[in-house]
Amino acid sequence: METATENGGTTGPVVAIDGPVASGKTSVGRAVAERMGFRFLDTGIMYRAVTWLAIKLSVNIDDSDAVGQLAESCEMSLVGDDPADLIVVDGHPLTAEDLASTQVDRNVSAVAASSPVRRALVEQQRAIASAGGIVMVGRDIGSVVLTDADVKLYVDASPEERARRRFRQQKENGTDADYEQALADTIMRDLLDSQRADSPLTVPDDAVVIDTEHMDFEQSVATVMSEISTATSDITSPEVTRR
Ligand code: C5P
Repeated sequence: METATENGGTTGPVVAIDGPVASGKTSVGRAVAERMGFRFLDTGIMYRAVTWLAIKLSVNIDDSDAVGQLAESCEMSLVGDDPADLIVVDGHPLTAEDLASTQVDRNVSAVAASSPVRRALVEQQRAIASAGGIVMVGRDIGSVVLTDADVKLYVDASPEERARRRFRQQKENGTDADYEQALADTIMRDLLDSQRADSPLTVPDDAVVIDTEHMDFEQSVATVMSEISTATSDITSPEVTRR
């Protein structure tokens, strides 16, 4: 993982971005972090890495304690933003393709519903954010992981639009793509993520909701950057006391 980015003599703000499957939060969040000089962490890859490892080791995905133990004991290192080399788990370097495989996609929400898994990963996420100057994306960042974040955003779009994006992405990656299947998978994961007991997907009370339904990528990036600049203008101004 990169070290904290210096930002005008401070370590910079903590930005939490949450949203449902394929809402664009990861690609938009990564671009925003790059352009504003902040670090970036997609917490989804941590849940995906545990899922990948559980499948590899034939650990029962529905055994909450067993997957929790795996999350607790595995060595996980984040190797930056290069999509070709995202995370190393127990010595296995995982690529974006490994992390986005259909098998991982279908099982990750069950793994993420395990409280022991969440405890292990949230602890690491908080430690990473403590240096500031970071954009962190996920499902529970503003609501649970970083409740004191300087900026909380919730990026959304309809299930149909998100399924269309997922479908286009799958086609670009050369994987078998089927819009109806993408829509069914999107709806199922939304349901699992928003109905689980521990840290369900929710819009934090103090979050700004950004509806990207009719926005292209650049419009989404510009909107998020503008929200961050507005919300942090008091942080960079010496006259105003930071809350
Ligand atoms: O964002 P992404 O689709 O890669 O996340 C994969 C899964 O990981 C989500 O569907 C969710 O179940 C889980 N997740 C989570 N909390 C986070 C990030 C991801 O529960 N902060």
